[in-house]
Amino acid sequence: MEEDTIVLYAAPGMGHIISMVELGKLILNRYPGKFSITILYTCGCFVDTPSIPAYIQRISLAHLSISFRQFPRVQIENTLIRRSAPAIMFDFIRRNDPHVRLALQEISKSLAIRAFIIDIFCSSALPMAKELGIPTYYFYTSGAAALAVFLYFPKIGEQTTKSFKDLTETVLEFPGLKSPLNAPHMPEAMLDRDDPSYWDMVYFCSHLPKSNGIIDNTFEELEPPAVLKAIAEGLCVPDAPTPPVYYIGPLIAEEEESRDSTEAEDCLSWLDQQPSRSVVFLCFGSRGSFSRAQLKEIADGLEKSGQRFLWVVKKPPLDEKTKQVHGVHDFDLEGLLPEGFMERTKDRGLVVKSWASQVAVLKKESVAGFVTHCGWNSVLEAVIAGVPMVAWPLYAEQHLNKSVLVKDMEMAIAVEQREEDGFVFGDELERSVRELMESKKGEELRERSRKMGEMALAAWSESGSSTRNLVNFVNSIT
Ligand code: UDP
Repeated sequence: MEEDTIVLYAAPGMGHIISMVELGKLILNRYPGKFSITILYTCGCFVDTPSIPAYIQRISLAHLSISFRQFPRVQIENTLIRRSAPAIMFDFIRRNDPHVRLALQEISKSLAIRAFIIDIFCSSALPMAKELGIPTYYFYTSGAAALAVFLYFPKIGEQTTKSFKDLTETVLEFPGLKSPLNAPHMPEAMLDRDDPSYWDMVYFCSHLPKSNGIIDNTFEELEPPAVLKAIAEGLCVPDAPTPPVYYIGPLIAEEEESRDSTEAEDCLSWLDQQPSRSVVFLCFGSRGSFSRAQLKEIADGLEKSGQRFLWVVKKPPLDEKTKQVHGVHDFDLEGLLPEGFMERTKDRGLVVKSWASQVAVLKKESVAGFVTHCGWNSVLEAVIAGVPMVAWPLYAEQHLNKSVLVKDMEMAIAVEQREEDGFVFGDELERSVRELMESKKGEELRERSRKMGEMALAAWSESGSSTRNLVNFVNSIT
């Protein structure tokens, strides 16, 4: 009898590969011996990092049922047309389509492909897989509210001919969401109709319902019931049936698989020396970075707040508007912060360069609050650790995550940002950090977050919602 396999197709970049590996491990843990996992990934994209081969080697050795297949190198097309990074990424992935077809055909010669699970960026592979008769699913790595928005996006796009970036006075309503979203707060790739990425997003979002199902890295108890209901009842896709959605999270990368360094270790021992529930942790994802002016405001706010803090600082971005920096860089940390700041706060604060082991930090007993950019992995990690948040969104679908965290889930305090560029003044950071750490409301958020952490664990119990949904998914493919 042919062995059953599930083929996963990761979008370029370490984060996307890790997500697929974690999904593969989840399936293997629950169903040992039932499937093998084959992970397809690309070569030649601008987000590739030197750490990828070592990671893949480590996983291949540790998990013999997971195998990887890297496509031959594909060149990014040089063109004079102005394109954003997501547009270049979508184009790069389309250029890999022939490799996907070949891989699926070759794998099917020796194995029975039970499911093909693709990253949201990899939509161009969906029609092809369907043509080959392979059931195709999406793996969506943000929350259900963001999924509702993505499902509804083609519909809302039809209602205007203008770009969302120019609709500064417009708020967008989405099925199931309590609060509308300012049009310019949509993910960057959806903001500008003159950039090919807008049409790539329309293409991707209108393909979501054409899949056999969507696997979502969240859990039912975390999500606003109105959002789950709106998706289940098809309100987000008015013109076609909505495929089943399997909420199978919270899935987070194992600690030993995140980067580590002596500095990262030092900050864990520093946290062990701090009083219980006394430290606020500031960290803005794998890429979030700030201008020198913004760093100064954060430093001022922290200093005035009087709170203990652990703050991860990245090198400022080349283009301030992006609020992102790629890769790990060496830079003069002290020279970037206000003069004397580190010395004045050394008894109660620690600033770390570039990277800390966030999952381990959030689990420390001394950590009582988290200032986050609302990247979905960070949100899930805070939820599992039961730590309440100050929400400071920077890019992608983070404004949306913030809105749900603050208004629906009531697990975060919003920081007020300047409308035109998202800048936060030191006084405002001080206010929000104090509110989180000192006020009755902060205490209530902490209690809610603690309970949600318990619910996250329960979702994985034998009768938990995520276990049930994973079983439903596997039943659908066997
Ligand atoms: N992360 C970390 N240390 C850092 C910065 C980030 O361990 O100093 C990890 C964090 O734990 C999370 C991931 O990087 O797993 C960031 O993912 P998220 O979805 O929150 O944001 P993104 O990086 O995609 O913007």
